Amino acid sequence: MVSGRGIVLSGEELALLAAVFWRGGLSRAEVAARLDVSRSKANALLLGLSARDLLSESGTRSSTGGRRPEVLGLSDAIGVFAAIDLGATSLDVAVLAPDMTVLAHRAEPADVRNPPTQVFARARDLLRALLRERDLSPTAVRAIGVGVPGPVAFETGQLVEPPLMPGWQRFSIRDCLAEDYDAPVFVDNDVNLLALGTLWQVRAQLQNFIVIKIGTGIGCGIICHGALYRGADGSAGDVGHICVDPNGPRCSCGNVGCVEAMAAGPALGRLAMEAARSGRSAPLQAVWLERGALSAIDLGDASRAGDPVANRIIQEAGAQIGEMLASVINFFNPSHVFVGGGVAQIGPSLLAAIRHSIYRRSLALSTRHLDIRYMPNPHTNGILGAGVLAIQEALLRPAQPRSGSDRARTSPE
Ligand SMILES: [Zn+2]
Repeated sequence: MVSGRGIVLSGEELALLAAVFWRGGLSRAEVAARLDVSRSKANALLLGLSARDLLSESGTRSSTGGRRPEVLGLSDAIGVFAAIDLGATSLDVAVLAPDMTVLAHRAEPADVRNPPTQVFARARDLLRALLRERDLSPTAVRAIGVGVPGPVAFETGQLVEPPLMPGWQRFSIRDCLAEDYDAPVFVDNDVNLLALGTLWQVRAQLQNFIVIKIGTGIGCGIICHGALYRGADGSAGDVGHICVDPNGPRCSCGNVGCVEAMAAGPALGRLAMEAARSGRSAPLQAVWLERGALSAIDLGDASRAGDPVANRIIQEAGAQIGEMLASVINFFNPSHVFVGGGVAQIGPSLLAAIRHSIYRRSLALSTRHLDIRYMPNPHTNGILGAGVLAIQEALLRPAQPRSGSDRARTSPE
């Protein structure tokens, strides 16, 4: 089997590389045990991979950070992986080593409503600068992982009718990056990357969990049996448009009462403005008169300062998100729910309300061992996920025909 840049790898070699990657390094004894092969067979596999500069004996075990010569890690000779994580209002670009050590990282505000050529011109500038910073040439980039805040057909890497990003559907992120890099580009939904980043951070020790992002929209990433689950067409986890109130406000998708239209960032900003304009909340009114606008962050500040109106808005939003999640949990039975995204950071009362609503609405068996908590390291999780996507697809997966585009070309329909 062939994996990336024409390197021929057997199934056992791929399994070994993947095990070394996910464990952050393995000793020879651990390799033999994990692959269930003899020591001599393990040694032969290790020798073959070392000879091709994929493994190195002095690799560091990244979970401890200490150098242990007997530990085998992915070789730095593999190259580096580029990560671009585009949110609705943010752009993160990073360069990562094969063991997912972040070598360079830049984060700045962005607006996906701008034309894609403009947004990606900036992403390309940042990536070029980060590589220069580490004295790396563009040819060192082995693969690129990209996250975008909209639905993606993973096989083609194209956005499909993204509600937040009109104008992006005909833009090819792959072609754009191919102008700078002779490396494969893998594009996925930003919430899927958060799920992959979380899977990496727990070293794949959890096999069935979901990640929920509450920001400008609401989305869910699904890890099923230790792998990212994208569904038949790539739209699995698009939970933001689940209806929680048939009499609710109209959503950007055209339907009414979607949880995203009632409890995501823009909805919370709108509810805060209503409370300020009507004078129901004096603290929110004061901030509004000073700044002329209110966001979910202001709502969180007012709630933490004891404003009962702000607190009630957050309670209701948490209850609606929890109600949606209760259905997801009854259906999927995850062990963990990791909550992240900008709105999740507004204060503990939102997470408390989500928890309360989930436990009230879910079946006893689905919540018996359920753990609901904040996502680990939310500020680097997206770029870690993009790095994991890049290395997984370019190096750790057997090569497969690109079924999406091939099917489109050869279909008799
Ligand atoms: Zn909707």
